[in-house]
Amino acid sequence: MTLEPNANLFQTLEDLNEKCQRLEREIIREKAARRKAEDIAEHGLRDLYISREKLQLLNTIASYANDSDSPTDALNFTIQQICEKQNWPIGHALLRTGPEGDERLEGTDIWVAKYPDIAFPFLEASRKIVAWPCASAPGRLFIEQSPIWTADIYAQHAFTRAPAARRAGLRSSISVPIIMGQELVGAMEFYQTESVEPSQQLMDLLLQIGTQLGRVFNRRRHADILLKNASSDPLTGLPNRSAFETEMKSVFEKEQQTADYQTSVIYLDLDGFKLVNDTLGHSAGDQLLVAMTDRLRSVVESFERQHWVEKIMLARVGGDEFVILLRSADVRDVATDIATEIHKCLHPIHRIGANDVQAVASIGIALNGPEYQNAQDLLRDADVAMYEAKAQGPEQTYHFTSEMRHAALARLEMEVDLRRAVENSAFELQFQPIVALSDRQTVGFEALVRWRKEPDTVIMPDDFISTAEACGLIVPIGTWVLREACRSAVRFHESNPSNPDLYVSVNVALQQFQQLHFVKLVRDILLETGANPKWIRLELTESTAATNPVHAARTITQLNDMGIQVSIDDFGTGYSSLAHLQTMPFDTLKIDRSFIEKHSDNTADWSFVLAMKQLADSLGMKVVVEGIENEFQQAELESFGCQFGQGWLFGKPQTEALVMATRALPAH
Ligand code: C2E
Ligand code: MG
Ligand code: MG
Repeated sequence: MTLEPNANLFQTLEDLNEKCQRLEREIIREKAARRKAEDIAEHGLRDLYISREKLQLLNTIASYANDSDSPTDALNFTIQQICEKQNWPIGHALLRTGPEGDERLEGTDIWVAKYPDIAFPFLEASRKIVAWPCASAPGRLFIEQSPIWTADIYAQHAFTRAPAARRAGLRSSISVPIIMGQELVGAMEFYQTESVEPSQQLMDLLLQIGTQLGRVFNRRRHADILLKNASSDPLTGLPNRSAFETEMKSVFEKEQQTADYQTSVIYLDLDGFKLVNDTLGHSAGDQLLVAMTDRLRSVVESFERQHWVEKIMLARVGGDEFVILLRSADVRDVATDIATEIHKCLHPIHRIGANDVQAVASIGIALNGPEYQNAQDLLRDADVAMYEAKAQGPEQTYHFTSEMRHAALARLEMEVDLRRAVENSAFELQFQPIVALSDRQTVGFEALVRWRKEPDTVIMPDDFISTAEACGLIVPIGTWVLREACRSAVRFHESNPSNPDLYVSVNVALQQFQQLHFVKLVRDILLETGANPKWIRLELTESTAATNPVHAARTITQLNDMGIQVSIDDFGTGYSSLAHLQTMPFDTLKIDRSFIEKHSDNTADWSFVLAMKQLADSLGMKVVVEGIENEFQQAELESFGCQFGQGWLFGKPQTEALVMATRALPAH
């Protein structure tokens, strides 16, 4: 039996074959697809891993930056993290310096190097680098403000560190800006030994890191501003008391340990500053302080340049009080020179608005030594010396002495007693006649204050007026004197109306004269007591008139307008500028008794008195010569044409009752 091929069977085999081939193709396609999928998965995983790593790096740096307020620490940490995690062998930081318009990046000591020995010359060059805007990669950050990738560092223009970079085997770099708001505050640069192609992902990451670091700089800047505000005087920008004390303490402690005393404190206080505030307003006072600070600064700077001056610091420690801390060879002499220069620098008149203002200072100096236990005591003694200088008149400099400390204590005690005396009105007036030299007729009396401390203890003005001036009590005392003098003048005229021009002359101290409403106060007292203005005269010393000549001239004119004449007292003992004297409408010039004292025979030298008489004549003033004690003086002075005199010869100061009882009042 023969078998005939079955047509159906062939058909089936063919089908099977085709199916197999299709399956095989499908398998190949599937394998390829799987491989591709696996590839994609593997890549994705790696990218994910890299992204995660970068994210982690960003997080680590951001969290460090959040806790840090030190840009240096944050930069150190960041550069180290980036070098380590991103495998860059060298990292270095630059910081922005220079004022706006002249800004640049300068190299720092902040760096990380995997192989420091090899990198050292390059790091040295980097430390000294100054990158100007635009010039090289870090400099370009000023303009571009985003990371700059340099695949071949030698191809860039102006890469001054090329020789050192070559020695370190470096090829490519990335420069990263540190940005605070819109401002470039620093940069980081990383170097690689191979030429690396730019990675956008890394650039984005570094940009974000730069911004995080910018926040640390911002925080630091705010902290610095706060610190500066806390330690500096907002008006003048000078260090304030607390900054000064901190500095002084540290210098003091060092000197105390080494027993090497070369420090002094110079204490400076303006005379008559209150007057500027009161008459011209606080803003004028501020302007004067600022203008004055500029002058003080330049004096301090000129000494700062001297090689023997080791340290000099100017600070404002109170309204019109300034101090200088000086550490120098020959400290005593240098401190004295500084004081002299300060007095000199204040001479030129300050123009404040429409007013001319003269700033005059009193200066006290204390030198450090083993006797000091703490810095505060040194500052206190400079203050005590300044106080002593002030008591001696304007523009004085005094070095502290231990006697001054005793005097200061005594003054403190007296201040307490004086305060009580003011409360109890424990003062009395005495009246000394002023006579016409031609006929010795009394034309007026000078009212002179006395302090009755105990029933049988009288303190003379020379022993308490300066303390009263120093602690401000002279104002209530002076007001009391003026009121009582007016009352006495009224009684003098009531008891003897025959001399309608008889006057009582009242001494007015600087602080009284500086009162804002002094003229009004005088007017009120006249109204209250019923005294006629022509019965009252006021006496100002030369220094009172000279302290603020413009104000003085204006006030004297107002007093004149009211009918009150003003005399210049103790003439010849102070320092008045003739130019200013000319502008002040004084009626009478009182020649100080020191020019008459001891003149008793023909050997007497009258040249000063004659000069003053001539001056008074040329300014249209009358003359009262003080301290006439003998007939010879009286005769001589009369022969010179001096119109009036005051002195023991004509009568000592007496109580009002005695004046009345002895009929010292002349019958006209
Ligand atoms: P001053 O204003 O120059 O007064 C004249 C002083 O010279 C008085 O001294 C008087 O007693 C003294 N004196 C008068 N003639 C002679 C004389 O011939 N020989 C001598 N050796 N001295 C004579 P006093 O009363 O001790 O007053 C001293 C100073 O105290 C005054 O000098 C004045 O500057 C001040 N003073 C007195 N009273 C007041 C006052 O109420 N207010 C103010 N701010 N100062 C006053
Ligand atoms: Mg007087
Ligand atoms: Mg006098």
